[in-house]
Amino acid sequence: MVTRIATRATPDADPDWPYYRPVGRECELFELAFRHRLPLLLKGPTGCGKTRFVAHMAARLGRPLHTVACHDDLTAADLTGRHLLQGGETRWSDGPLTRAVREGGICYLDEVVEARRDVTVVIHPLTDDRRLLPLERTGEQLHAPPGFMLVVSYNPGYQHVLKNLKPSTRQRFVSIEFDFPPPAVEAEVLAAESGLSGERCAALVNLAGRLRALKGRDLDEGVSTRLLIYCATLVQAGMPIDEAAQYTLVEPLSDDPDIRAALRELIRMTF
Ligand code: ADP
Repeated sequence: MVTRIATRATPDADPDWPYYRPVGRECELFELAFRHRLPLLLKGPTGCGKTRFVAHMAARLGRPLHTVACHDDLTAADLTGRHLLQGGETRWSDGPLTRAVREGGICYLDEVVEARRDVTVVIHPLTDDRRLLPLERTGEQLHAPPGFMLVVSYNPGYQHVLKNLKPSTRQRFVSIEFDFPPPAVEAEVLAAESGLSGERCAALVNLAGRLRALKGRDLDEGVSTRLLIYCATLVQAGMPIDEAAQYTLVEPLSDDPDIRAALRELIRMTF
């Protein structure tokens, strides 16, 4: 059954609307998944726009958003809630997943593979047609309303044997792969986010292409769109480009002196 929830007018009508430049048909896919109550999995490297995309879509669909950055200590109770001692009394306090279910919002679990195993146990019944969140500790069985949607992400580049999504979990999600945007789009994003001229942004994106070519050889991760925006922001604020690149593209990428020297040389040759 299709959910009829009014979407908001246009991004331009709302200055608080998170800016997102679509790369393909990801906005249409998100909207369809939402309307048909399907959970969504976003795969892709860090800093390529996944979180911004979800924030944009939540605004577009007019749904509250609960984002959780998962880490290896995150347990199911951190998502569902727990009893807290307040003024001598114990009171139940909803976690972000429970709040999203109660209010019909979007819950985004960023880097879900990092979380403890018991997290998958609580999300499974929410990802099939039951759309159910059992809260053992309060005895409640919450049925997710039409406005609820579960979105999770992970970075396949970080995968190792212990930190991988089990097939039984992966196969519960509509999945879409994210990557750094094509050069022209990435330059547009940089310009929009930093205010730097299109021409200088294009030069930075060109440099990013060269740095990304080192991934797998000298670098574990390619330079992210996020780091390029930091660089463009410092340059727009008046910092010389080679200095900005040092702080945003060399230091965050490697601690190895030889690799950093090679990165600096690459930057020197580009500008
Ligand atoms: P991820 O969640 O994939 O780690 P983010 O969504 O935090 O990455 O993206 C990092 C930054 O890159 C965002 O804050 C945003 O400024 C920018 N960004 C990346 N892709 C886009 C895009 N397509 N449209 C708008 N901004 C983008």
